[in-house]
Amino acid sequence: MILIFLGPPGSGKGTQAKRVAQKRGLPQLSTGDMFRAAITAGTPIGLKAKGFMDQGALVPDEVVVGVIADRIKNPDCASGFVLDGFPRTIPQAESLDKMLTSSGKSVQGAILFDIADSELEARLSGRRTCSKCSAMYHISSMKPKKDGICDQCGGTLIQRDDDKIEVIQKRLKVYHAQTSPLVEYYKSQGKLKTINAALAPEKVESDLLKAI
Ligand code: AMP
Repeated sequence: MILIFLGPPGSGKGTQAKRVAQKRGLPQLSTGDMFRAAITAGTPIGLKAKGFMDQGALVPDEVVVGVIADRIKNPDCASGFVLDGFPRTIPQAESLDKMLTSSGKSVQGAILFDIADSELEARLSGRRTCSKCSAMYHISSMKPKKDGICDQCGGTLIQRDDDKIEVIQKRLKVYHAQTSPLVEYYKSQGKLKTINAALAPEKVESDLLKAI
């Protein structure tokens, strides 16, 4: 099963992608996580991606498509995967379709996480991320047990540069301009399901499992 989780930054698609992927025994492929890991490791891809990410801009299509093309060749992707944060532009979606078609596969469904920009700004600007294991927290709705420290690994919690308010507003603009056309792309193929992402995470998860 190949699923795409589509939605603006902060819509909760990353958290839900991890949960659903685990339940279905599929790998969750987050291009954002891959770039952050590449930046930490200081690889050439990380160096290319960093400047775009820090500004809230998209990494160029050819870089992202190359990263995903390599990743989905891994044996753990043989029976499917959950894509989180990819595709983000029409050319990326078309490249994905081409890649899949050439190996006799196709996308089963795209799930849209629907939520207002005002809610996203509040969510993202309060978000804190573990610098070691990438676990997510929120300064008011999902506090760690100990201030500034990750419950899971003891790492330091930080605010990602791209979760700062100016960058968030830029990311939302980029989402509406470049990513939201994908809604029509998957709708016209009869593959789109929409989830109300403003609800509590447990409700979002149960709606999601029903939709899948
Ligand atoms: P995310 O963690 O999914 O919000 O991604 C963080 C940042 O990584 C984005 O703001 C982009 O700069 C970059 N990025 C992640 N996925 C993509 C993609 N599919 N296309 C272009 N840039 C991406």
